[in-house]
Amino acid sequence: MSRDLAVLNCSQLITLSGPDRPRAGAEMRKLAIISDGAMLIGDGRIERIGTRAEIEPLLADYEVVDAGGRIVLPGFIDAHTHPVFAGNRIDEFEMRASGATYQEIAAAGGGIRSTVKRTRAATEDELVETGKRYSQWFLRTGTTTVEAKSGYGLTLEDELKILRTIRRLNNETPLHYVPTFLGAHVVPDEFKGNRSGYVDLIIEEMLPRVVSEGLAEYCDVFCDEGAFSIEESRRILAAAKNLGLGLRVHADQLTLCGGADLAAELGASTADHLEQTGPAEISNLKSAGVQPVLLPASVLMLGSQRYPDARAMIEAGLAAVVATDFNPGSSPVPSMLMVLSLASTQMKMTPAEALTAATINAAYSLGRGNEIGSLETGKRADFVIHDCSDYRELAYFTGIEHPFEVYVNGQKEML
Ligand SMILES: [Zn+2]
Repeated sequence: MSRDLAVLNCSQLITLSGPDRPRAGAEMRKLAIISDGAMLIGDGRIERIGTRAEIEPLLADYEVVDAGGRIVLPGFIDAHTHPVFAGNRIDEFEMRASGATYQEIAAAGGGIRSTVKRTRAATEDELVETGKRYSQWFLRTGTTTVEAKSGYGLTLEDELKILRTIRRLNNETPLHYVPTFLGAHVVPDEFKGNRSGYVDLIIEEMLPRVVSEGLAEYCDVFCDEGAFSIEESRRILAAAKNLGLGLRVHADQLTLCGGADLAAELGASTADHLEQTGPAEISNLKSAGVQPVLLPASVLMLGSQRYPDARAMIEAGLAAVVATDFNPGSSPVPSMLMVLSLASTQMKMTPAEALTAATINAAYSLGRGNEIGSLETGKRADFVIHDCSDYRELAYFTGIEHPFEVYVNGQKEML
């Protein structure tokens, strides 16, 4: 275990302490900041937290970490990523720059299918190798936990290979991974004329194996035009729920197809994307207690103008989350710092709302609200010293990496 630490001289210690539940409405603006804050860390957890005057008399054998008047906050929790894939789609990025749309590229055999082809050809060791590189990107930008989806295999063996890669990344890197099975990402080419055959394969073979091997906590479905219909999505998600998995849904990204309503109907943990979602769906999400996960970097990188209506969601009392959607096609963006900037500039979330959405609310959306997402006694000491003197600088000075030191389980990571 790591040595015991005393973290002192934090101009703002942004604790996000508060009620034991996701934060909604006006609560999202309350960061519970301690000026000139300090904390004691033992056995990788927070032992005490308070002002310097409260903590300093307690110093005994602690190794002192002098934050130097910088700000300290919980590690970001990125609640929506696709970080295990082979190759990249830089050619399609160039095609989009020349005017092609995401849908046109996908229809021509590009998009997710091109990544599937390359990921199937890769070994588990190769995927671990590239995954480790991306884990460093996450850590370097201040993220300490990611939700990680499969979905570039689309055969039983290839989906298992990806989920085993995620398990290895969790064990072999400092970053924490929360695994999600996304066998229903797209219908693979070999099932083109037999969609129901692929849905059967997911339900009858993939899901039972994933669950019996303990490889996923959540099941996700890409529910949209060109992906899976409402009926197909309902069958898959209901089967996953029966097997004890939590649910997340790619919903209403490209079309208003009923994905958010389905998430509400099935009591999913989250409905993600929601670019097309309107007031009726927002009200259904609220009634069902579903958390919206907003992914502004994918809107930006697709060159679209249509961001989800974060203001309406927050005002309706939804406990909003923001995430990167890191993936090789629509969002090659691992940085939650960039997402914070987009949240404020494009979705009109205040910096405080965005920070809540990137930490404690994200933790609750992953069933880990009691473990991470805020700096409170007993919680895991996943925190980051950012080279800023005011938390609003995180979103304001953009395009640079603010993290000065990153700690996971009370241990400083070499970045
Ligand atoms: Zn996604």
